[in-house]
Amino acid sequence: MARVYNFSAGPSMLPEEVLKKAAAEMLDYEGSGQSVMEMSHRSKVYDSIIKGAEQLLRELMNIPDNYKVLFLQGGASTQFAAIPLNFMNKNGKADFVITGQWAKKAYQEAQKYGECKAVASSADKTFSYIPKLDKNEFTKDADYFYICMNNTIYGTVYHELPDTGDVPLIADISSCFLSEPIDVSKFAMVYGGAQKNVAPAGLTICIIREDMLGNARDITPTMLNYQIMADNDSLYNTPPCYTIYICKLVLEWLKEMGGLEAIKERNVKKAKILYDFLDNSKMFKGTVVPEDRSLMNVPFVTDSEELNAKFIKEATEAGFVNLKGHRSVGGMRASIYNAMPVEGVEKLVEFMTEFEKANS
Ligand SMILES: *Cc1c(COP(=O)(O)O)cnc(C)c1O
Repeated sequence: MARVYNFSAGPSMLPEEVLKKAAAEMLDYEGSGQSVMEMSHRSKVYDSIIKGAEQLLRELMNIPDNYKVLFLQGGASTQFAAIPLNFMNKNGKADFVITGQWAKKAYQEAQKYGECKAVASSADKTFSYIPKLDKNEFTKDADYFYICMNNTIYGTVYHELPDTGDVPLIADISSCFLSEPIDVSKFAMVYGGAQKNVAPAGLTICIIREDMLGNARDITPTMLNYQIMADNDSLYNTPPCYTIYICKLVLEWLKEMGGLEAIKERNVKKAKILYDFLDNSKMFKGTVVPEDRSLMNVPFVTDSEELNAKFIKEATEAGFVNLKGHRSVGGMRASIYNAMPVEGVEKLVEFMTEFEKANS
């Protein structure tokens, strides 16, 4: 069996240990005589899985007790509507920073529900940086302030959070979930699709400060009402049972490795290998300003479309797959999420070094 190094932005690699454990437990989960795929979400055995996953997540992320953890469906994109429906209800206003396609989509969706302001944007330079924020631009009585923390397509990340004062800060952390410690207490809500760093597709995790809840618009669909989901411990209807189980295995894997400090150290090491190479290469170069570079998504280019295509083709043949950049930006992108081993990045850099030699 040959496994490739998968640099996909999502769905993406899962730890091999997790896949092996899931395979071993496939037919008979802990003596229950069933696969997790087959069991009732209301059974005792499943209850220990979903509760266990929540407990582990709380522990790893150090989530304060006054936050709810919700296991939902619909992807991050569904939250683009759920967030305004649940929270844009006092003054009907919210602020957004446009740092890429996901932030823009959230902004456009929220416009259906109220007055939205884009307080800054980095569209002028293809989102290759995080814009400096001018507090004078912030809406004083906004119901919330929205950011996309790690910009998957462009490879930027906030190293410093906006100071929004009393205005609740909400962040999409889809592509940096569990990649390093974050201070949850600085946010009113963080959320993300699981398929980048946490689990297979199908699960969206929302972590919401309790005082934000209970204020949804009357028209809010039941399934998008965070209060109802919280009151029902994410079991209002059938949750994505198997994905939550894999999520639990990933969380166990993270805990065993030493938690988020340990994974951060590994992620910093991986990203440094790649960025150092890019900074020294004559052929390849990173597209993001150094101070805003993401640990998770690393876009890069050569100066020719032809060479980009040749590189992607030859890399794929050599077992480095999904290196093509997002269709909106072109070039290449290596997503090096938690599950990518250090060795995968080292081998990619070796391959790039050889490619550069052979083609210059
Ligand atoms: C992938 C991604 C999304 C979209 O997630 P879906 O679960 O497919 O809706 C949103 N935001 C960010 C930052 C992403 O990386």
